[in-house]
Amino acid sequence: MTQKRKILVTSALPYANGAIHLGHLVEYIQTDIWVRFQRMQGHEIYYVCADDAHGTPVMLRAQQEGIEPEALIEKMNAEHRKDFEAFGVHFDNYYSTHSDENREFAESIYLSLRDGGHIEKRTINQFFDPDKNMFLPDRFIKGTCPKCGTEDQYGDNCENCSATYDATELKNPVSVISGAKPVERESEHYFFKLSDFKDMLADYLSGHVQPEVANKMNEWLDAGLQDWDISRDAPYFGFEIPDAPGKYFYVWLDAPMGYMASFKQLCDREGLNFENWWGKESDSELYHFIGKDILRFHTLFWPAVLDGAGYRKPTAIYAHGFLTVNGKKMSKSRGTFINAGTYLEHLNPEYLRYYYAAKLSDGIEDIDLNFDDFTARINSDLVGKYVNIASRTANFINKHFDGKLLPESDMTHPIATGGESESIFEAFEQREYSKAVRRIMHIADITNEYINEHEPWVLAKDPEQKEKLHQVCSRSLHSFYIISIWLSPILPTLTSKVARELFGLDRDFLWQDLKTFPKTINKFKHLARRIEPKAIEAMLTAAKEGLTMNEETTVTTGPLADDPIKDEIAYDDFAKIDLRIAKIIKAAHVEGADKLLQLTLDIGGETRNVFAGIKEAYDPADLEGKLTVMVANLAPRKMRFGLSEGMVLAAGPGKKDLWILSPDDGAKPGMRVK
Ligand SMILES: [Zn+2]
Repeated sequence: MTQKRKILVTSALPYANGAIHLGHLVEYIQTDIWVRFQRMQGHEIYYVCADDAHGTPVMLRAQQEGIEPEALIEKMNAEHRKDFEAFGVHFDNYYSTHSDENREFAESIYLSLRDGGHIEKRTINQFFDPDKNMFLPDRFIKGTCPKCGTEDQYGDNCENCSATYDATELKNPVSVISGAKPVERESEHYFFKLSDFKDMLADYLSGHVQPEVANKMNEWLDAGLQDWDISRDAPYFGFEIPDAPGKYFYVWLDAPMGYMASFKQLCDREGLNFENWWGKESDSELYHFIGKDILRFHTLFWPAVLDGAGYRKPTAIYAHGFLTVNGKKMSKSRGTFINAGTYLEHLNPEYLRYYYAAKLSDGIEDIDLNFDDFTARINSDLVGKYVNIASRTANFINKHFDGKLLPESDMTHPIATGGESESIFEAFEQREYSKAVRRIMHIADITNEYINEHEPWVLAKDPEQKEKLHQVCSRSLHSFYIISIWLSPILPTLTSKVARELFGLDRDFLWQDLKTFPKTINKFKHLARRIEPKAIEAMLTAAKEGLTMNEETTVTTGPLADDPIKDEIAYDDFAKIDLRIAKIIKAAHVEGADKLLQLTLDIGGETRNVFAGIKEAYDPADLEGKLTVMVANLAPRKMRFGLSEGMVLAAGPGKKDLWILSPDDGAKPGMRVK
């Protein structure tokens, strides 16, 4: 074995106002696999996490539920623990940022930063809710985008045009909490002078983050580091700043300290020396696994805060991408927003671990959970390839050889495991799980081919072939043993069963077991079941129903799920659109245009020239003489081929699939549609 490493690993802290869902689990499963892999090598490794308990959303949700924030976060903590455990995500300690340990870290780190001259007070203008008597975070203000005029946008950015702005720039701002019109008010805030750490951070980005992340950090550094606002005014659920009554630490200041606090609790319980892990002179490794949405906090603020307060910095920060489901963002209305608890009622949690592993790499690309692919892969890889090796051979060993495998000396390998073990080891170490899975399944394929070729079920019928039968089944089961060891970080429960029940070990597999040969097996018991498509359907239905019951949201299916109805408008907005019956008196191709037809429309005494994108759907000759509906007061648009003076209405996704609207008999050109 290589030298024994000391490794501390964290996953990002889940927020305490919602359930764990399949999107969250990408990270916890990714981290847990890595931790289990390192633990199998015999390293000293700890994996800690905690609930991120502070901030306005927790405070408001507790108010809504009519309970204290402490009661809310306690309830969520218990739920989160239960979900993680069910998915085999094993923490050495799971805590909360609302703890005495974390308060001590927040206070002492803040005081060090202050004494080091890295904290500055500044008065800023901020929106205040006069009904609720509180300053409003950006996400609790909505209004009209100052750039593009889209209504109902949050106080920090516009979902329509992606502009970012200060909440005070919004037009017609409204407090999301009370509906009141917020007023601007001055308040003194505390800022962490991030720019003091520019050189350190420029240095830090080589070797401590993924290359694509280093590029991003470089951009941030080049753009100039803004000081970071670390205080919030009361009322706020969090820790009060020691020398500033009524001011609280912003949740993002004390959240990463939760890593330390959780580890501190573990140290106190297990007698570990905290300094050896977090002290400046520490020789241990520290890794943060995070989503790419919180990079800035972990690659800029956090190393700077640690550095300024005299702690060691992370060895590396490993970011991953987001989860899409069936190729799209997880969506409540499509029923693809699936909570851990809902999944668990219908499917085996290790199947999700396997599927994520088969998709994960060391990069930050998004990964897709496609349920058809998921079903196919579990059924073909796990059941059809892996488990199948044992189910095709183990019974012969039990029946004909009293459970005894051929001793090692009689075995020449059917498969080249030596080289594979090294590359699989490397793939796990580098978080290239998809590579590891591909290589493991390749060996499973070879083993199955070996079984097909030698047909133990035929050999078993011929007493002359008894020795051959013994050899074929022993070799296949040795291969199964090796594959099980490789799969252990990904499938801890299944492989534990294999180790203990089939191979009779009194513990789970270790990596060093690759060097040993199993001598006997016990009776083979059923190991894994295929996924029935109806289980997936039932889960998706339950995800939708759970949503309806909990959130009273109308569940939509079909076209509306993919193309949701736009925000409600007032009648006056509708009345602004002047729709008229139009007669197509001429329709013609436009030279040089792939999609357009030129229509001449009679709208009752006036003719209009309109270019319509319906060329693939209609032959001009079929259109002439037809009545349709047009938007008559749309501002004329200058196009390459001339001026388009309005728009005809059509339905459909586009290209060949477009249908223009036509009125019932009796409508005349120029009539208003209302
Ligand atoms: Zn906008």
